[in-house]
Amino acid sequence: MIENNTHLQFLFNIGEKKPNSIDNNSTICPFCDTKNLTDILDRDGTIILLKNKYPTLDNTFQTVIIETDNCDDDMSTYSIEYMRKLIHFGMKHWLALENSGEFKSVIFYKNHGPYSGGTIKHPHMQIVGLNNIDYRESLKDEIFQGTIIHESKNGLINLSSKPRVGFTEFNIIIYDRQNADTMADYIQIAVHYILNNFSAGCGSFNLFFYHWKDKFICKAIPRYVTSPLFVGYSIPQVSNRMDRIVEKMQSLYFNGEKPLE
Ligand SMILES: [Zn+2]
Repeated sequence: MIENNTHLQFLFNIGEKKPNSIDNNSTICPFCDTKNLTDILDRDGTIILLKNKYPTLDNTFQTVIIETDNCDDDMSTYSIEYMRKLIHFGMKHWLALENSGEFKSVIFYKNHGPYSGGTIKHPHMQIVGLNNIDYRESLKDEIFQGTIIHESKNGLINLSSKPRVGFTEFNIIIYDRQNADTMADYIQIAVHYILNNFSAGCGSFNLFFYHWKDKFICKAIPRYVTSPLFVGYSIPQVSNRMDRIVEKMQSLYFNGEKPLE
């Protein structure tokens, strides 16, 4: 095969066998069926890390974190303590794979809902080691910059002023992995806002984690059909209602608190 450092090859023969519990409600949820799980790598109570049973991406090492044993939960319904435990667990394994030196880079992300690209409804995240691709090569600082919604000494949450794909992208930034609690708290707020208070409530979102210049960053993105201007021309769009989103989040989640000056 031609050497390729920019595109992942999707393995259709494996993809065809994969169950789809988002499109098909009658499919038995493979993540509820915990007694038949195989290749478990680690667990902390009801949080389980295992090898992906359907590794559809060539030249990768694909793992899945099953977040909970409750199929109907989501990140907005977990207790604060549970959410913190989950993000600690996820970051620990993400960075352990990164530090193993076996991969060119390691991605950590979550799909939720039909427009997110996800196929299984049960709450889960994915950690994938990439043999040949460094996801950081295409990153720019500007995609993480934006209007600060809230800031503490350990980190911040902002609304992208130059989003990577377009419209609403929340960036959660911490400066030290010891501050994963702050990461967890801000992610939970962003997810709650997206699912309950964004426009009429948006049923799909993605989380993408980045280890970028000594910072740990999570992008939380509500998902709709991707803008054709981005698909065709890579032109991201930005909303003229950003201030409204920032103010609404401040009043809903931070008692109207403005960020630190
Ligand atoms: Zn389930």
